[in-house]
Amino acid sequence: MVSIDYELKKIVMDAHINETLKYCYQCNRCTDNCPVSDIVPERYDPRSLILSSFLGFKSIIFGVEDTFNLWGCTICDTCDEVCPQNIELTEIFTALKNMSIKREEGPKYFISQASSIYESGKAIPMQSAVERRRAQFNLPEIKPPNIEEVQKILNRTKLNKILEKNKEE
Ligand code: SF4
Ligand code: SF4
Repeated sequence: MVSIDYELKKIVMDAHINETLKYCYQCNRCTDNCPVSDIVPERYDPRSLILSSFLGFKSIIFGVEDTFNLWGCTICDTCDEVCPQNIELTEIFTALKNMSIKREEGPKYFISQASSIYESGKAIPMQSAVERRRAQFNLPEIKPPNIEEVQKILNRTKLNKILEKNKEE
């Protein structure tokens, strides 16, 4: 039997920052318009994710084999736009992803991209081939970011601690 986790329900309610709290009535419009669900419906379904979130069904969301059930969302915001109840699904999914990271269930590719941003200030570090091509087109040189400043900001989010923890494993 699936149990209700009241702490999860509170986190979800707190993330649902609309002025008027409205409930999902499972119309399925979010899933019908989700580009990820369109391609892999058996692996990603925002409607059922939002249902499990509001009900506090933690064991359905976390600790599962395929974390794509949560991390499949690309935050394109389509569901937010089409939801007739104005539920901010992506705010809720972000709160869930943060919980997933705390539980050390974040996908490796997200951790490695976060690591790249922390170390180089860019999600995709500049490559010499790109630099050469820019020069060919007389495009200006791209100035390197101030890594110290970037890290100072990211340290406030405790990203450094999360990355250290993931390196230890
Ligand atoms: S579109 Fe909104 S109301 Fe409809 S199922 Fe999705 S979250 Fe629920
Ligand atoms: S924000 Fe996520 S859940 Fe919503 S439509 Fe886009 S990919 Fe689907």
